[in-house]
Amino acid sequence: MRQYRALVRRTWICVQCRANSSVASPNGLRASSKPKSGLPSEPARTRFAPSPTGYLHLGSLRTALFNYLLAKRTGGQFLLRIEDTDQKRTIPGAEERLYEDLQWTGLQWDEGPNVGGPYGPYRQSERTALYQSHANDLITSGHAYRCFCSVERLDALNRQRNQAGLPLGYDRTCFDISAEESAERAAKGEPYVVRLKADQYPMFEDLVYGKTGQNRAGKKQLELIDRVYDDPILLKSDGHPTYHLANVVDDHHMKITHVIRGTEWMASTPLHVALYNAFQWTPPQFGHVPLLVDRNGQKLSKRNADIDISIFRDRDGIIPDALVNFAALLGWSHTQKSDVFTLGELENIFNLKITKGNATVVFDKLWFLQKAHAQRCAAQGGPAFESLVERTTKVAEQKWSQEQLNQILQGRSLSWLVADLLRADAKSFTTPDEFLTRNKTFFTTNIERPPYTPTTTTTTSTTDDPLSALHTLSAALTLVPESHWTADAHRANITDYLNATTENKSKEEKKALTKEMYHYLRWALSGGASGPGIPETMVILGRAETVRRLTDAREATKKSWKKYSLPGVAKGSEGSGEKV
Ligand code: GLU
Repeated sequence: MRQYRALVRRTWICVQCRANSSVASPNGLRASSKPKSGLPSEPARTRFAPSPTGYLHLGSLRTALFNYLLAKRTGGQFLLRIEDTDQKRTIPGAEERLYEDLQWTGLQWDEGPNVGGPYGPYRQSERTALYQSHANDLITSGHAYRCFCSVERLDALNRQRNQAGLPLGYDRTCFDISAEESAERAAKGEPYVVRLKADQYPMFEDLVYGKTGQNRAGKKQLELIDRVYDDPILLKSDGHPTYHLANVVDDHHMKITHVIRGTEWMASTPLHVALYNAFQWTPPQFGHVPLLVDRNGQKLSKRNADIDISIFRDRDGIIPDALVNFAALLGWSHTQKSDVFTLGELENIFNLKITKGNATVVFDKLWFLQKAHAQRCAAQGGPAFESLVERTTKVAEQKWSQEQLNQILQGRSLSWLVADLLRADAKSFTTPDEFLTRNKTFFTTNIERPPYTPTTTTTTSTTDDPLSALHTLSAALTLVPESHWTADAHRANITDYLNATTENKSKEEKKALTKEMYHYLRWALSGGASGPGIPETMVILGRAETVRRLTDAREATKKSWKKYSLPGVAKGSEGSGEKV
């Protein structure tokens, strides 16, 4: 114990003091001139050790991510280990899904199933003999013993203690069996479990919480008559290890230096440290990351969104970097100017500044990050953008009939349209479905326009006849030939026209007409729906459809425009809405 404390103290001080202070500035991110908070000076070997009893969810993704980032940030290795000791609770197919989901997030493991490595196999069910031999070593060294008590006896013991209001535990009946008798009974095939002789659990230095542990004695009750001990089972009667034994043996043999895991495992860590001590092994450093809670402070559960991450991918169309970015901010703090990071950027800036308090999951942040990453993807192109286009195109195919799409596409490809739309309006990208609904005007020739209402803030008369100015611009825009049908050309035309029309007008009048003009064009082209800018809208719609919409809109307002309550125009009744 003293030895362990000394070790922890020494390592802890070294990490703080020797932390590398010169960090190159990756991708324009702020380089830290301060020590890398809590980062080890040596490359870290970390692992993600899921059990295939469930799928990857937000909490386990965050655990995997922090381990991955710690390894990458320090130039170490990230391992994947499948902890499938609880065969009864294993879900068929869960292991494959874990691989698929982790790969989708980009957290590629350096060692583990499918990729191998020097300390494999990386699936615990293939390492049983190793655990058995280590359990035997502990029996030999006196740190563990065989327990032949039947389940019935243990149940009865606990029932009695429960009725007497005493703490539950084991009474160490089998501890006094001699080594010879124990070996003989085992050799004869009598069923037994192996228990750790746990008299005292050590405190440990947690990377996040500092010195922790209960320092409680394994002896829960000191009076002889009621002696009861924790003495946890290491090896079950079927010869399989419990989580505690397998986890410690593997972390040691796989040379894991840092274990980052959820606080739900914190209560087990003193036992793990006791096991390391019993084996005379150096424990890794432990860092427990805070619980994820909802806005009401409730632990995330399946009901309140601690859901399988494939749902974020398949139902919501979340971009992997957006989800990773979201998970990274759950309990980790940084000093960068913005919260938006790709996985690659996180690899360069991660540190162990992890909060102790519960991390509140606020999904608005996920949508903010989704929009930010959609804009990045659209600006940069590449595989991430292609996959966004592909996913959104699939949703569009389900949303509109082929016939309807053909009418608007006029021979163009749907993914081309979706890609253009994403480039023009990525700032509003939440889910593919919401994005397409917002931009539905691009997928149908059948647009609905409410009656035209001039902007209410237009307070001054800009021309004697504002609608006629709008009509003139609209008509002029339809004269642009196909060869010049670009957003830049349209932008320049609109600006030139506005400048010419308002040459002798005040700044205020110019502003008012500009506003009215964009308002009119948006109404004409998309029924007023928000979306990409007007020049981009014209390009995405294509010349033929734009000309058709502008012409129809002029027709719709021609006969009745005098009725509109425009500045400088006599007030009258509302114009009629037209369906085009
Ligand atoms: N198999 C455990 C789990 O499912 C691993 C806990 C740990 O990281 O030690 O979360």
